[in-house]
Amino acid sequence: MGIFVNHCHVFPRGCFNKDKPKLGTPDDLLGLLKRLGIDGAVVFAPFEYKVRMDPNEWLSEALPEGANLIGFATINPVKRNSIRKLEKAIDMGLKGIKIHPPIMKFRINDDRAEAFYSLAEEYRLPLVFHTGVHGWLLRNYVPILLDDVAQAHPDLPIIIEHIGGAEFYQEALAVLRNNENTYAGITSTLQPEDEWHIPLKDITKLIRVIGAHRIIYGTDYPYRLEGEIEEDLKIIRGLKMTPEDEERILGGNLRRILEEVRV
Ligand SMILES: [Zn+2]
Repeated sequence: MGIFVNHCHVFPRGCFNKDKPKLGTPDDLLGLLKRLGIDGAVVFAPFEYKVRMDPNEWLSEALPEGANLIGFATINPVKRNSIRKLEKAIDMGLKGIKIHPPIMKFRINDDRAEAFYSLAEEYRLPLVFHTGVHGWLLRNYVPILLDDVAQAHPDLPIIIEHIGGAEFYQEALAVLRNNENTYAGITSTLQPEDEWHIPLKDITKLIRVIGAHRIIYGTDYPYRLEGEIEEDLKIIRGLKMTPEDEERILGGNLRRILEEVRV
């Protein structure tokens, strides 16, 4: 099985960068994946404030036929229409949800999100949570709050993206150790220049403590580009894991979660 990566953002043409209109489009991403020898990717619908149309609808229509791109919707779980949006996303063929609490401005363990989390759990639909400093009130999106969600929904796959960044790594690690249904997303953590950089010794520790079967690599395309993604792959390969563990982090785990989705 080839490499399959998480966490690629895609946009309509010209939406990410006016001067380089192709940047951030599914087409541009496909070219990059091919050049790097990557088989496929999970792609996120744009944030609502970035586009004029319904971002999930746009994504489901923009995914090129035959390409190995799996779409994840963007939905704010506490909005009153979140259940309807979730059902609609599933109908449109999307296979997971990207959730960004500081951008969506909701508290991770808000009671109003419960029905949404329960329904996602029923479908075994993976939820990708951004964690790590990103403006707004830190207390509403510290990784420890994901413990409440993971404990209440043991069959819900939760990807803790950026593992809280350096500032909240320990909290994220506590949640990961405490809950088998949580996964460490190492997107934008591996390089010193990365926004949520985590020292490699802590990444290695993660492999030891929770195991490579619960670690998932993502790119953060187009906020990060070809050179950075290529460097990430080098760093992962330099961690000297068994080939099986490397394969898990570079796609095996994400594929397994997606195979278990019940829709
Ligand atoms: Zn991202």
